Amino acid sequence: MAKSTNLGYPRIGKRRELKRVIERYWRGRADAAELQRVAREVRSAALTVQTEAGLDLIPCGDFTLYDHVLDTSALWGLVPERFGHTAGAEVAVDTYFAMARGDDDTPALELTKWFDTNYHYLVPEFDAGAPYRANNRPVELYNETKGIVGDRAKPVILGPVSFVLLGKHHTKSIADHVAELVPLYRQLLDDLATAGAAWVQVDEPCLVWDLDADTKQVFTVTYAELGKATPQIMLQTYFGSLRDNWDLAMGLPVAGVGLDLVRDPRNLANLRDNGFPEDKVLCAGIVNGRGVWKANLDQALGVLGQIQSQVEQEQLWIGPSCSLLLLPHDVAEESHDEELLRNLSFAEQRLEEIVLLTTAANDGVDAIAAEVEQDERRLRSAATASTTHKNTQERVGNLVDDDFQRSTPIRERLGTQAEALGLPPFPTTTIGSFPQARDVRSMRAKHRRGSITDDEYTAYIQQKIDELIEQQESAGLDVLVHGEFERTDMVEFFAERLDGFITTEYGWVQSYGTRCVRPPIIVGDVHRSAPMTLSEIEYAQSKTSKPVKGMLTGPVTILQWSYPRDDIERRAIAYQIGLALRDEVADLEAAGIKIIQIDEPAFREGLPVAREDWADYLDWAVKAFRLSSSGVEATTQIHSHMCYSEFNDIIEAIDALEADVISIENSRSSGEILQVLRDYDYAGQIGPGVYDIHSPRVPDTPEMTGLLGDAIAALDAEVIWVNPDCGLKTRRDEEVWPALENMVAAARAMRERAASN
Ligand code: GLN
Ligand code: ZN
Repeated sequence: MAKSTNLGYPRIGKRRELKRVIERYWRGRADAAELQRVAREVRSAALTVQTEAGLDLIPCGDFTLYDHVLDTSALWGLVPERFGHTAGAEVAVDTYFAMARGDDDTPALELTKWFDTNYHYLVPEFDAGAPYRANNRPVELYNETKGIVGDRAKPVILGPVSFVLLGKHHTKSIADHVAELVPLYRQLLDDLATAGAAWVQVDEPCLVWDLDADTKQVFTVTYAELGKATPQIMLQTYFGSLRDNWDLAMGLPVAGVGLDLVRDPRNLANLRDNGFPEDKVLCAGIVNGRGVWKANLDQALGVLGQIQSQVEQEQLWIGPSCSLLLLPHDVAEESHDEELLRNLSFAEQRLEEIVLLTTAANDGVDAIAAEVEQDERRLRSAATASTTHKNTQERVGNLVDDDFQRSTPIRERLGTQAEALGLPPFPTTTIGSFPQARDVRSMRAKHRRGSITDDEYTAYIQQKIDELIEQQESAGLDVLVHGEFERTDMVEFFAERLDGFITTEYGWVQSYGTRCVRPPIIVGDVHRSAPMTLSEIEYAQSKTSKPVKGMLTGPVTILQWSYPRDDIERRAIAYQIGLALRDEVADLEAAGIKIIQIDEPAFREGLPVAREDWADYLDWAVKAFRLSSSGVEATTQIHSHMCYSEFNDIIEAIDALEADVISIENSRSSGEILQVLRDYDYAGQIGPGVYDIHSPRVPDTPEMTGLLGDAIAALDAEVIWVNPDCGLKTRRDEEVWPALENMVAAARAMRERAASN
């Protein structure tokens, strides 16, 4: 019998109950007992849903108070010295949260994107001392789950090789770090078996990376040992195909291998060409864990048929392509039109699909004939009802090279812009958003609910803009912003204004820790029916003689942080969004806005996990950005912003964006980027962030002139802008204004220094 399984479930709670209790706990309004009680309730609700769906195997241990990678660091006692933890002891919950969040004097662990998703994990630090077993949580969670669902409970742990590969500050070789962990893992696996677990899902997502020979060897050595543990190991991979690592994975002495069969066709091709080891169970990830479109049953059955021609029933588990962590909970919570909702699947609906396909695998397609017929009807009506926009399709179809190209070469237009703008050397600016205190959020919420009128809301936003313009002027900033007070989220804001998108009410997905986002869903051709940002920007510009930057989110980021449609290519969607933004840019320019910033914080995150897929991605991503930005006159200056500075391997693409000015994260990354830009002879101007906005700390002027000194040592002084690392939305006014004053002072000091040389 084939079995239905799941790899992981959303863990924040259907109504973000976990977020709320954790934040209360941090503020001292909930005690540890309440925290644990709500956590248990959230776990038990997830178990109920999965049990009622009829799954044969239900993951446990995927739950976390903050992040599953941080849990793994805490499990192995990898607590950096700065947190004052006593080696050998259990990691206290407050130490755990300190590692996640840091405080004034103690930086948190670094937060980084989980593969190519918008989930962020806390990077393990391997100079933290020798690992040891610091708690018994995996076994406790297993016992708790087993108490509710019995033998269906399947523990999930992050495997040692991926855990080490995802970490930093390796003081020894990867092989040595893993070797230290292996006996600990072995013991844990045995303990889980003793507690009753027949199978343990060991996640090794790094098996979809391009691995060098040494790392492959680490996998071989590690699993030679772990394969001897008592429970059967389901070696789980996701977010891509094994490709060159196929033979490696299939050769490991584990009882099962889990494959993502949705992301791209290469796993399925390998399965067809090479078959599957007879002595292993295949966990076939055929239900999409990353997208929200209902499974096309006919297609899924086709894939299932191919799989069944390679593996026996007893060898088959059917599940999602990855943990359902990246999906909202339940479509039924939403109130869009029925027709549309019928085509969507969130986590709960994915479980039904898994169980349905398992029934088909066991009892034949006829056993689900009624559902298949219903699904065909659904697809037919979806096809006729789909929101096509003829004009958009024609515009994408008719694009020519010139549409992606500004009419004047960059070095030439930078000269023209300098004349037109008349900015001082080391011009100062910010990234866009300013602190959004409670009053801003509550006014937006009131407007949403309709308890204040449009006019009242507009007046409020204008008053915020008035204040901010005045404050920026008196702080002495050169290029001003309007502050983004009207935006909750830089993607949702645009999704609400563009045709072809829907937003959700309860579609919360964990981004990191207690921070959740509601990714919009692209449901049809994207089209801009009216200006989206013009009125606020124009208003702000009318209040000052200094330039105000137009502020847009770029096409790649809007796409990357939304759920895409699956009936056209990503490239086409990106171009559609690019065109809508291009129209906005044109309107801003026509209204006299001289500088327009198009943020692309998700540009790097979109890089596919497989190197061989990079070129294609970078080609359309660069073009989509250029489509949005190249319709302007030479005098109009295009800025972009990215929240990181790892450009080493994509510097060519960054250069190809042809942004006149780009602001990046720099204050924490010790200037590596400057060397990269210099070696590449990067053509644009650059604002290497001099103020780390991720911390409440107010940097002083010498610290910032120090960073600027590094910048001019590597690059021409004429190309340097002075700005913070990122938007100031999450900070408080008390922190922001002193820091910006110091920043302006730093720019002035640099000007004086340059003048006296
Ligand atoms: N303009 C945006 C802001 O300042 C950019 C945010 C980002 O890049 N994440 O908030
Ligand atoms: Zn940023």
